[in-house]
Amino acid sequence: MIDNMKTVFDSGRTRDLAWRRAQLEAVERLMAECEGEFMAALAADLGKPPMESYTTEISYVSGEAAYCRKKLSRWTKSKRVSTPLVGQPGTSWIQPEPLGVVLVIGAWNYPVQLTLAGMVAAITAGNCVVIKPSELAPATSALLARRVPKYLDPECINIVTGGVAETSALLELPFDHILYTGGGNVGRIVMAAAAKNLTPVTLELGGKSPCVVLPDANLEATARRIVWGKFTNAGQTCTAPDYILTDADTEAKLVPLIKKSIDDMFGSDPQQSDSYGRIINSRHFDRVSQLIGSGTVVAGGQTDAGDKYIAPTVLTGVSPESPVMQEEIFGPILPIVRADDLDEAIAAIRKRDKPLSAYLFTRDKQAETRFLNDVSCGSACINDVMMFAAVHELPFGGVGPSGMGAYSGKRGFDTFSHMKAVMKRGWWPDLDIRFAPYTEKKFKLLRKIR
Ligand code: NAD
Repeated sequence: MIDNMKTVFDSGRTRDLAWRRAQLEAVERLMAECEGEFMAALAADLGKPPMESYTTEISYVSGEAAYCRKKLSRWTKSKRVSTPLVGQPGTSWIQPEPLGVVLVIGAWNYPVQLTLAGMVAAITAGNCVVIKPSELAPATSALLARRVPKYLDPECINIVTGGVAETSALLELPFDHILYTGGGNVGRIVMAAAAKNLTPVTLELGGKSPCVVLPDANLEATARRIVWGKFTNAGQTCTAPDYILTDADTEAKLVPLIKKSIDDMFGSDPQQSDSYGRIINSRHFDRVSQLIGSGTVVAGGQTDAGDKYIAPTVLTGVSPESPVMQEEIFGPILPIVRADDLDEAIAAIRKRDKPLSAYLFTRDKQAETRFLNDVSCGSACINDVMMFAAVHELPFGGVGPSGMGAYSGKRGFDTFSHMKAVMKRGWWPDLDIRFAPYTEKKFKLLRKIR
């Protein structure tokens, strides 16, 4: 498969801007014409409500494709840079070129977005792409396998379905770049396999994204926004606020507002709500359910294994050493951990791995500046959560254990391009100064013009 794709790539087909535009338009058509099928598959895999499927998957992908299509001719242009005196007469420029045949490995929690948004970036940069959706979202994976070859050029864009065996086989191949989204343990496997072929990698991983609430925040808006971010997709979002850090007084005011927001959004029995999703499988259901015992349940706490349902749950009295604070929760449990002030909150965050995202709710500009300077994370949001994903011009990616490299918008184009450095010399004058024999006179002159 990869050999055939390399042959097509070498033919120059994917470099052609008209081909790239046509493929991006095809992605937009795929999302529009198969919207109902995608919603049904996402409902089968994750109980995803149609509006969530639309905003976080379908319209996200088509929006990204439309944005990249519009920016294509600007991004692909060479960029002139200045040439110093020693290079005169001459001109220099940076010329983006596609990498070749690239691999995009997606995760199950946003199985459309995490597979196709990477593909969109790779196409925009002019590559052939193999996409590998997650086997843990089987309905979506099967739908992608049926629909992608019908809409996109099957000689340049291939889809491989399957699990560990199929992904491991793909990882043996000499791709020109790999974009992997998922947990850090498999990220290490991907990077080790890629090293054998010297294939560069972009790793989109996870982590515990903290959410600091200071007393001066608008607590009603804070509660609503945190509840939305935490319980979208039943908490199975890499950038979801993992836990809250706040002081005792603010916690006492915030908890009733969080409970009210949960009630407003999902009703008194969220299991009956059309707006609330399910846990992906029994293994994750068991893992997340066990974390409920890590604190005092002040909201939710109900589970139903047969329905893979875990209620939107809020825990107080949570110690930083408790099980729920050891790993990314990736489920609908919101622990509140005490931090008396911003200093304590920042110190608590910095004791842990650098997170994928970090959130601060405050009206205090100085607190905001300190937080942004002192907390290293992939993306940050002040007074909201996760909304940076709606900004095409912001790169998306982690730092340290939460990932390496980034994509989305222009950064996705850059990730899948090589920025070739080019210099072109004029013929005349062909100054003698750099050529041997080296003389004292040449050396003196050289020192002056450097
Ligand atoms: P997953 O189980 O779907 O795995 C991801 C991919 O890796 C799949 O395509 C799977 O086939 C492949 N895979 C699994 N085991 C493998 C192995 N042993 N060898 C080779 N390939 C293998 O997803 P997951 O790991 O459960 O994902 C959840 C994690 O992903 C969370 O930590 C979450 O925060 C993170 N995540 C990050 C982002 C991001 O954009 N940064 C987005 C979503 C999820």
